[in-house]
Amino acid sequence: MKFLCVECDRQMAFEERSLPGDGTLAAAFRCPTCGRVVAMLTNPYETQLVASLGVKIGGRTISEQPLETVRGGVATGRADAFEEGAGDAGPTTGSLPSWSLEAQERLARVPGFVRGMVKRIYAEYARDRGITEITPALMDTARTELGLEGM
Ligand SMILES: [Zn+2]
Repeated sequence: MKFLCVECDRQMAFEERSLPGDGTLAAAFRCPTCGRVVAMLTNPYETQLVASLGVKIGGRTISEQPLETVRGGVATGRADAFEEGAGDAGPTTGSLPSWSLEAQERLARVPGFVRGMVKRIYAEYARDRGITEITPALMDTARTELGLEGM
């Protein structure tokens, strides 16, 4: 598995590997020139999810697959897709839901380099349904509904 940074035409270096749960493997690669990071999840569905966020892998975006539920709720490729959202502990901006203490603890167990993406998925899921607080029960429901086992 090789990743190429399209901007720099440089091969990205393997940086981090983690097991989010259920045997799903996640790996991150960083461009040594510009520092851009891509994360890859081995579960086919989750690989599609990464592609749906606009992450380019191997110099091109993975062919689109039906993923309306998630794609409809996730903004197109953002530079901070794999980083912690700014102002996590600050006042809520926009209409994004809040996180219960238990949900925050559960989120903290997600590997750091995909946590931002996972958090966004749950937040968008809740927002789209008019839910104001994310709880472990909601995370279970969303995970089952979206097929995000291990997140
Ligand atoms: Zn680069």
